[in-house]
Amino acid sequence: MHKRFALAAELQKAIEDDDLELYHQPQIHIATGDVVGSELLLRWMHPEMGFIPPDYIIDIAEETGVIHQVTEWVIERGLSQHSKLLKLGFEHTVSINISGKDLNDNSLVAHILTTVSRFSIPPASIIFELTESATAEDPKLAKRILTDLYEQGFKIAIDDFGTGYSSLDYLSQLPFHELKIDKCFMNIDVSERNQTITDMTITLASRLKVKAVAEGIETEVVANMLKDYEGLIGQGYFYSKPMPFIEYMRWLQESNR
Ligand code: C2E
Ligand code: CA
Ligand code: CA
Ligand code: CA
Repeated sequence: MHKRFALAAELQKAIEDDDLELYHQPQIHIATGDVVGSELLLRWMHPEMGFIPPDYIIDIAEETGVIHQVTEWVIERGLSQHSKLLKLGFEHTVSINISGKDLNDNSLVAHILTTVSRFSIPPASIIFELTESATAEDPKLAKRILTDLYEQGFKIAIDDFGTGYSSLDYLSQLPFHELKIDKCFMNIDVSERNQTITDMTITLASRLKVKAVAEGIETEVVANMLKDYEGLIGQGYFYSKPMPFIEYMRWLQESNR
């Protein structure tokens, strides 16, 4: 516990010193190969401990209340990078991970709105990704915040779909635009069962008139198996690993997207 609080204090300092990094992982329209946007993923290279996995950072940040500062930093830095891409003419979306604790925070929407208007970014180009458990703590407040974001024109994605406890309950209750099929189902080349689950989820998304995103595509075989789904978006090591912003810009320009 002591160690976790010590690390949280260092995290806070890293935010103040701007020592965190945001990586971009491209999202691809599978049928055409077009880039449609990127997901932002937090990276922290600790001076002594080296690379610390983001799930662990987020866990500690949630437990110690530092999460609001982390999220604000991600929004600030991420939207600054996103606005650069828009100015370069890339009509892309940017996907930002939001923690459940952020949906307990009354000031989140105001902060997002201020940042968006400062960078003149269209809200519809921003997708907030949340897991199903994110709304568990204060469902009423969470619902209000999500509805606010929805009404302001932002997009909402359900992350890790299929791995939570109340997936369909969420779908029936809350606003959203996108379903991200969890990477644990993406071994469709060897698992007929997961092929069925993936197919069913894409059909569900299409019937609900929302986008489907398949994450964790690692091989060409899997990508090819998904090519016939109209509008399906893919993300994974087969297309590209997450990369620093500079490298991502170079990757976009080199691949002429
Ligand atoms: P996630 O939102 O489900 O993000 C996708 C994870 O899958 C990322 O791990 C990404 O690097 C990894 N990934 C991408 N393609 C592949 C693939 O083809 N195969 C496999 N096996 N993995 C792939 P990462 O970057 O370690 O992030 C882990 C989790 O940490 C994220 O899962 C998300 O829940 C959380 N996270 C990361 N950045 C942030 C952030 O800025 N804010 C919040 N609240 N959470 C974040
Ligand atoms: Ca995500
Ligand atoms: Ca995910
Ligand atoms: Ca996850």
